[in-house]
Amino acid sequence: MRASVTLLLALAVSVVLPSAQVPTARTLDIYVIDVEGGNATLFVSPSGESLLIDTGNAGAAAVRDADRIMAAVKEAGLTRIDNLITTHWHGDHYGGLAEVAARIPIRHFIDHGANVQPAAAVDEFLQKTYPALYAKATHTVARPGMKISVAGLDVLVVTSAGEMIKAALPGAGGANPYCANFKPGENNAEDPMSVGTSVTFGKFRTIHLGDLTKNKEFELMCPNNRIGTVNVLLGLHHGVDTSNSEVLVHALSPRVAIMNNGTRKGGQPDVMKTLHSSPGLEDLWQIHFSQLSGQEYTVPGMFIANVLDEPSVTMPVAPISAPQPGPGAPPAPIHNGTAYWIKVSARADGSFTVTNGRNGFSKTYRAGP
Ligand SMILES: [Zn+2]
Ligand SMILES: [Zn+2]
Repeated sequence: MRASVTLLLALAVSVVLPSAQVPTARTLDIYVIDVEGGNATLFVSPSGESLLIDTGNAGAAAVRDADRIMAAVKEAGLTRIDNLITTHWHGDHYGGLAEVAARIPIRHFIDHGANVQPAAAVDEFLQKTYPALYAKATHTVARPGMKISVAGLDVLVVTSAGEMIKAALPGAGGANPYCANFKPGENNAEDPMSVGTSVTFGKFRTIHLGDLTKNKEFELMCPNNRIGTVNVLLGLHHGVDTSNSEVLVHALSPRVAIMNNGTRKGGQPDVMKTLHSSPGLEDLWQIHFSQLSGQEYTVPGMFIANVLDEPSVTMPVAPISAPQPGPGAPPAPIHNGTAYWIKVSARADGSFTVTNGRNGFSKTYRAGP
């Protein structure tokens, strides 16, 4: 009986929902989707136009992550993705692309250009799969300074293929006091290529830099801060410590940071110290509890969106160190079950509300002076 009522309700809703993209709200809505230490972040403008940054993990996880992305797409009432940025060619960022493209039309594909890291699976994807996906759409290789058309928003590429915007954004460009203490960080080849994007809606500003690494953070932010400050810092390279230097985090001075970490990826003590000491930071929100934080460094659970398939009743005080990668590494704790997003609803006056999809906890950050 209940099932049939639910079915009737579903039918009623599907009839009522408009088939075209129409404005449904006066907020910019941002869904930070749990793709297990990968990235998938969906922006929905008040105009109804959309931008998706990355598509989650490859291989066996691609279907799971595409399903999770589509859950946010449905919640937002979208019938197409207007713009898809693939920040770089790592499997935790482009992995679900073909699965998402099979579920919903994508109008504009954006990336940094050729893969620069030896990876046969990526090369095969770029030669065989990707061109067929954008054949009936638009494909753009991003360059710093390029605008991406999303009605109602100002979307600007600030980094791509290892290059940075040359000129400061309006109101930015002052000397960055954190540059003096910068310590260079080791990089792999693809992370520094990340497409980084600044999104402005009225007085609200946010930035997503993909997996941009420390040395590139320095190039972008030193000696002068070309970005200025943001309300919300998104992504944070999963909270991994090859990124998230003070020259970036402290100089951007976010009120809120939302970290797309995994169960055992990101949230290391050094990153947590940088975040917790960041001037003006009011809250850090995390996509997962991370074993690499332990109780010592983590935020309260109400700010964390996801637990494990087999919930643990206790979390050790001390953080663990990430095991050496390789065939001998024990698997990270698994979360293939119901996933929850962290949603930001931003208003043009600069105020915004962040909501934890798991527990419904919600906090509004009032417009600044
Ligand atoms: Zn998860
Ligand atoms: Zn990544």
